[in-house]
Amino acid sequence: MPQTPQLQPAYPSSIQLLVDGAWQDAADGATLAVYNPATGETLGQVARAGTADLERAVAAAQRGFEVWRWLSAHERQAIMRRAAQLLRERATTIATFMTQEQGKPLPEALAEVRAGADIIEWFADEGLRLYGRLVPSRRSQVQQLVVQDPVGPVAAFTPWNFPINQIVRKLGAALAAGCSFLCKAPEDTPASPAELLRCFVDAGVPAGVVGLVYGDPAEISRYLIAHPAIRKITFTGSTAVGKQLAALAGQHMKRCTMELGGHAPVIVAEDADLALVVKSVGAGKLRNAGQVCISPTRFLVHRSVQAELVERLAQYFEGVKIGNGLEEGVQMGPLAHARRVAAMQELVADAQAHGAQLRTGGHVLEGPGNFFAPTLLVDVPQQAAVCNTEPFGPLAIVRGFEQLDEAIAEANRLPYGLAAYAFTRSLKTAHVLGQRVEAGMLWINQAALTSAEMPFGGIKDSGYGSEGGPEALQPYVTPKVISTAMI
Ligand code: NAD
Repeated sequence: MPQTPQLQPAYPSSIQLLVDGAWQDAADGATLAVYNPATGETLGQVARAGTADLERAVAAAQRGFEVWRWLSAHERQAIMRRAAQLLRERATTIATFMTQEQGKPLPEALAEVRAGADIIEWFADEGLRLYGRLVPSRRSQVQQLVVQDPVGPVAAFTPWNFPINQIVRKLGAALAAGCSFLCKAPEDTPASPAELLRCFVDAGVPAGVVGLVYGDPAEISRYLIAHPAIRKITFTGSTAVGKQLAALAGQHMKRCTMELGGHAPVIVAEDADLALVVKSVGAGKLRNAGQVCISPTRFLVHRSVQAELVERLAQYFEGVKIGNGLEEGVQMGPLAHARRVAAMQELVADAQAHGAQLRTGGHVLEGPGNFFAPTLLVDVPQQAAVCNTEPFGPLAIVRGFEQLDEAIAEANRLPYGLAAYAFTRSLKTAHVLGQRVEAGMLWINQAALTSAEMPFGGIKDSGYGSEGGPEALQPYVTPKVISTAMI
């Protein structure tokens, strides 16, 4: 039976700032254009905040904090759960906006929005368990309490690759802990974050508890990090920018969480299930066109299985349906902007100049949009840029090894330490890798498996702090001692 065509929700022509509970344009009327990376067309305009807007947003966040922190944990939980419910109800519309502005296939966008609701609910509930302690005193007649005080208004800087997920991990923890939250969301993908925050406003969050600005990232981060009202910084993005922001936060004695870049190794032992490698991390490589901080990139493969794995991966990459993420069956969309396409081209050319073999892909796809073919480079010398720089695109490299120690040394060689993957049927090998691979997250015999209750974060240049699990709330609270002598 023919299906009734569904009307697509229209992308908002103008996206506003959220200041003090009200949606508004920038005071000076400035805007930035938003583009569809699949077509190159202009989708709409987003308000560009200036200093006057930021001043008002911070003042509102300070007032919002004084209201929110004194609500009971149960009251906060109820509002957060209502927001999550609205997010679920509006998921299709929000996911459609996300696909239009970011490029990822609609099913991926939909999964991200629904996971966002789940993350908010988990943090809402976890806020109920943010217990203090009663510590026996060394002096009689003294009662010692340790309470968990919220740190204060939070400034969050979030990127365009997961416009909802990157916010909810910060927002959920901050609100559950009793902090207010001012977000500088990505200018490239502004509509889905705005719709996320609209769910909180519509759920009844008091004015100023959540705020949203867009504009010049460097200008906004300089202003917010230095502002005395802001007590905590949280950033997701590149290591280079993260280091600048962490230094700035240090100058102003602000706490910070940094979720930065990665260059995930995939160690494939001689006894690995190769079909599983392709099905899990081969497919995982092309998720969000490789624009994922935990994207599996450096395939370190035992020489005895290298040729077979390369063939299987190449076959998979060549069979993937690429196109506009709103089209049925599309598995990989465009890159989010043209500068990522240029980066892919440079990395491929450099690897080939160093003697790597281009097994498949390596080129821009014809037509409009930022499409780049899934790319597999084999036997890439260590000096090639792609062995050292996070590609952040649909590009994987393969290097062979003889001894497991070599693979571990190569996996740990880079300053990154975010995600790692390994495939083996040997418990002993799995155990050794678990102990020796330097990463915040190691997935063995599977694709990345992330959830609200599991820690998420890196070590070394990949940053610090966790954005999942009970650990994620700790950066938003400070232990306060209240010691009372009974006179
Ligand atoms: P970029 O370094 O210019 O920007 C990365 C993010 O940081 C963007 O969201 C941007 O708005 C923000 N940013 C940049 N300068 C800032 C500043 N001074 N203050 C506050 N925010 C600032 O790179 P890009 O071209 O947008 O993205 C590509 C690179 O960024 C990738 O190579 C990847 O390493 C990194 N990235 C990482 C993640 C992640 O999930 N860890 C997400 C997006 C981008």
